[in-house]
Amino acid sequence: MENKYNEDGYLVVRENHCCEHWEPDDGALVPMRECWCCKWSKFNAEESRLISESIGICIYEGNRENIEVCR
Ligand code: SF4
Repeated sequence: MENKYNEDGYLVVRENHCCEHWEPDDGALVPMRECWCCKWSKFNAEESRLISESIGICIYEGNRENIEVCR
């Protein structure tokens, strides 16, 4: 599947997505190996301006799209 990015260049992820940079979220008692339980995910629909709560963004810099900086 092709990666999608939001307007800020952050990777758009689903709850059950996972990647090699996964790290458990501090608040999860038994964290499953998926974005929902990863400390790098954000599933706040308003903040990321996404339609569904099951779709969020990954704020891990290594997964961010390369954005050309205006000079
Ligand atoms: S939130 Fe990002 S770093 Fe975490 S598992 Fe998902 S894609 Fe990987």
